[in-house]
Amino acid sequence: MEKLESNSEIENVVIIGSGPAGYTAAIYAARANLQPLLVTGFNSGGIPGGQLMTTTFVENFPGFPDGVLGPDLMDLMKAQAVRWGTKLIETDVSSVDTTKRPFELKTLEGKIKANSIILATGASANRLGMIGEEKYWSKGISACAICDGATPQFRNEELAVIGGGDSACEEAVYLTKYGSRVHLLVRSNKLRASASMIDRVKANSKITIHWNTSAIEAIGNNWLEKIKISESEKIFKELEVKGLFYAIGHTPNTSFLNNQIEVDNRGYIKCDGGRPETSVSGIFAAGDVSDSEWRQGVTAAGSGCMAALAAERWLSEKELSRKITREKPDPDKSNATNNIVDEDTNEETFDFNSEWQKGSYALRKLYHEGAKPILVIFSSPSCGPCHVLKPQLKRVISELNGKVQGVEIDIDKDQLVAQQAGINGTPTVQLFKDKLLKRQWKGVKQRSEFKDAIKAILK
Ligand code: NAP
Repeated sequence: MEKLESNSEIENVVIIGSGPAGYTAAIYAARANLQPLLVTGFNSGGIPGGQLMTTTFVENFPGFPDGVLGPDLMDLMKAQAVRWGTKLIETDVSSVDTTKRPFELKTLEGKIKANSIILATGASANRLGMIGEEKYWSKGISACAICDGATPQFRNEELAVIGGGDSACEEAVYLTKYGSRVHLLVRSNKLRASASMIDRVKANSKITIHWNTSAIEAIGNNWLEKIKISESEKIFKELEVKGLFYAIGHTPNTSFLNNQIEVDNRGYIKCDGGRPETSVSGIFAAGDVSDSEWRQGVTAAGSGCMAALAAERWLSEKELSRKITREKPDPDKSNATNNIVDEDTNEETFDFNSEWQKGSYALRKLYHEGAKPILVIFSSPSCGPCHVLKPQLKRVISELNGKVQGVEIDIDKDQLVAQQAGINGTPTVQLFKDKLLKRQWKGVKQRSEFKDAIKAILK
């Protein structure tokens, strides 16, 4: 019999991962009064919120007859988990010691002890590794059409997507909003996407499908100008494109487990018969990290539910659960659905003292007439990483008691501003003081990075 101990600093259940599997597990564990701790992930294994953060409309998640934007869906799941008492830590788990009971997890924020663990770390987008990839990464090559498609360099230009699955097809269709033509490079003679997605690609006159085609080299100067492609490994050609987007599948995020948990020959966590139990008693898996076959938002959510129920049963069998008592049976409402629409600031709504405003009007006013440093986030409508970053920046600004002001620019709406600011991907954050650009960040960064830079210019 395993020796297990119980004390107040030990978590009932730690959920690693913040996609649909992680948040659904959190909702169930929280409603079972287990007060789960969810480690969202930060730099490793994609962005917090998972793959739906880099998707546009999710049209097959039940309950949304007209579809729902992936990042909005994840915001709602997160709010639901938090409303029921899930504790969140925004960090990465670097290792798990499965030989100890309770289990010990190392994070950048310190160690966590847990009686049970749910692994919901998902999978990361693959890269191709072709010649020139490093040089043109973020200078024409991107792994996320949905995040970067709206950048000025891609407007009315020819673009290419590599892959033949749902992601590639979705991205190709999405990019036709911005590019003059989208070349879909498929390495075989068939698409493996769902039938409805294939129909959409075929019905779109701006998409050209290149069958049996592989990309070999990225070529350009400061920005990508063309790619070398091969057809059936025989005919070599050059394709003039200003953007190249990868959608070539994913690899499960398990490296931090250091081979302590059994995986299958493709690296997915082994769980028998579709159940959530892993090879280590007390550790459960859910979502894409243990699913090489279905990999849908709804199947991830379903498996998150199973993992939480299994963890609850396991904790109770081992007499390890410490359930919380709620002061009132129904927690306060989350207000999450009210936050989805936020309007641009205009002449009437502009406020010199507001900590956070949106749009070019607010930016112009604060840039020319304001006295404080300005933190500008350039976002795009369906940019998942922007959803992750915005609340972080708002928190930084509020922690600095409004000594700096925030402005959000939607590069899709304010194309000219984005062009003048030299934006080539979202999110990009620029810090201005006295009309001078002091710092620029691309992608999601830790709060402390922004805070330290702002403090340095406030001195
Ligand atoms: P996927 O289904 O694994 O497809 C990956 C594609 O990339 C395949 O066509 C594969 O070609 C190609 N590929 C892999 N390595 C390559 C390489 N080195 N060079 C060129 N091509 C390469 O991945 P996914 O499209 O990201 O989809 C993952 C899961 O998410 C799927 O279950 C999908 O249904 C789901 N998803 C759903 C939606 C939606 O419903 N809205 C949207 C996105 C994703 P081969 O076919 O030749 O192997």
